[in-house]
Amino acid sequence: MILDEALKGQLAQYLEMLENDIEIKVSASDDETSKNMMELVETLSSMSSKINVEETELKRTPSFSINRKDEDTGIVFAGVPLGQEFTSLILALLQVSGRAPKIDEDLVERIKNLDEELNFETYISLSCQVCPEVVQALNIMSVLNPKIAHTMIDGAVFKDEVDKMNIRAVPSAYLNGEPFGDGWMTVEEILAKLVGGPDASEFEEKDPFDMLVVGGGPGGASAAIYGARKGIRTGIVAERFGGQILDTATIENFIGTKSTQGPQLANQLEEHVKEYDVDIMNLQQATHLEKKDDFIEIGLENGATLKSKSVIIATGARWRTINVPGEEEFRNNGVAYCPHCDGPLFAGKEVAVIGGGNSGVEAAIDLAAITEHVTILEYSDTMKADSVLLDRLHSLENVTAVVNAQTTEITGTDTVNGLSYLNRETNTEEHIELAGVFVQIGLVPNTDWLGDTVERNKFGEIVIDDHGATNIPGVYAAGDCTDIPYNQIITSMGAGSLASLSASDYLVRQPELVKK
Ligand SMILES: Cc1cc2nc3c(=O)[nH]c(=O)nc-3n(C[C@H](O)[C@H](O)[C@H](O)COP(=O)(O)OP(=O)(O)OC[C@H]3O[C@@H](n4cnc5c(N)ncnc54)[C@H](O)[C@@H]3O)c2cc1C
Repeated sequence: MILDEALKGQLAQYLEMLENDIEIKVSASDDETSKNMMELVETLSSMSSKINVEETELKRTPSFSINRKDEDTGIVFAGVPLGQEFTSLILALLQVSGRAPKIDEDLVERIKNLDEELNFETYISLSCQVCPEVVQALNIMSVLNPKIAHTMIDGAVFKDEVDKMNIRAVPSAYLNGEPFGDGWMTVEEILAKLVGGPDASEFEEKDPFDMLVVGGGPGGASAAIYGARKGIRTGIVAERFGGQILDTATIENFIGTKSTQGPQLANQLEEHVKEYDVDIMNLQQATHLEKKDDFIEIGLENGATLKSKSVIIATGARWRTINVPGEEEFRNNGVAYCPHCDGPLFAGKEVAVIGGGNSGVEAAIDLAAITEHVTILEYSDTMKADSVLLDRLHSLENVTAVVNAQTTEITGTDTVNGLSYLNRETNTEEHIELAGVFVQIGLVPNTDWLGDTVERNKFGEIVIDDHGATNIPGVYAAGDCTDIPYNQIITSMGAGSLASLSASDYLVRQPELVKK
């Protein structure tokens, strides 16, 4: 049975919410996947009188399309959308039947205004947690605009296609046969890719802000909520609202929430910020900061300049990457960057840590307590960590330290299965079999755009005091872009609230600014 009783129970509740009749058109043969697909669509139609099924021939077999009674929507599922895609199936049924998708009205208008034929195809795997976001965004666009079509393709079912196109990471979206985008994409991001973001003129009319937050990760979201709750005019400029958590699979150390997914937490952050009167300027990159007499000016990549009486910089950081084959393909599928976060996912398995500095050695010590075995690889001829850490490392029986090791490739199929490195001393190629690779060669703060304006340390991190203040009056900073010792969601949120409260306090003490 393709759906167990629990799933059928869930499905029954949703199918009661269907508003209008739906036509499911199926293209099937006699292979096992076709049989499973037929069982799924027949179950759907047996559970709701609003669903009719008819056989047809579609571009791919097995696949099925979900349509209104007299109009094809362009939504196709190639394969059987269970696993992570079950929700995509339910949402597609509800939206095709007439229930409005939950997106902002201005996005609905922008989608309806698209006036060209757009045929999207997204390759997914049923275990990919990020894939449904892209599938659901493109399905919404197909529901709203008859010129847009979208097919979800299960790569495990259409393996020949995937191999021919050399697709090694999901989700991988194509538009009219050309690569369109990999990884997480929201409706807003897809629209920006199609027609560009707003130009400078849309920002010219904006009044100066009391508090302008640059960065929309956990730190920036927290700062904005604290600012708006003070009743002051607050805005957020973010290159990508959500920040690093958009690239995070499972989060298990966000206290109060036992386990969540990064993209889900990012949605919750956005919903929470939207509860308040915050001007969110997403998909906008800040390019410079300048302190003028009364205001701090933030220049944007599109040429606009925003003014604010106080600014909070929360532009975060990105993991330094090793740039070898396999790193990008298996990111979140065996390649990890955060041992505090992802270590428990490798319990009882063999892993490697790349990088023999303090963070790498600390990671190896942490991981040794959880995993079966850790191999730590250092490029140079000695481990660079502090001796106290090295003593601890060498006392551990399940850790092997390798120096002079230049990682050349991370190997795998669906997930990581090994790592190849060049032994720089003997010039021989070595390979180790393992389940996970932790890259620990440092974090790069996203602060280059500040130039010489705000004081930064030798690592590029913004120097702040215990109130989150920078060297420029009215400019505060929070989270991974600063010189705080630990980079976590919860520490960034705490730092964001601290910087925001300090900025509010600064504004209250500047009566001449508050009056203007
Ligand atoms: C793969 C991975 C897994 C992780 N897992 C966990 C975990 O399980 N638990 C945990 O606590 N932590 C985890 N972390 C760390 C955690 O995600 C970060 O510490 C946290 O997101 C930092 O928040 P932040 O707001 O300071 O910065 P970020 O999340 O980096 O957000 C920065 C924001 O600034 C924006 N930005 C950057 N430059 C500009 C610019 N010039 N103009 C405008 N906007 C800009 C970005 O688009 C983004 O919106 C993980 C990190 C990674 C990469």
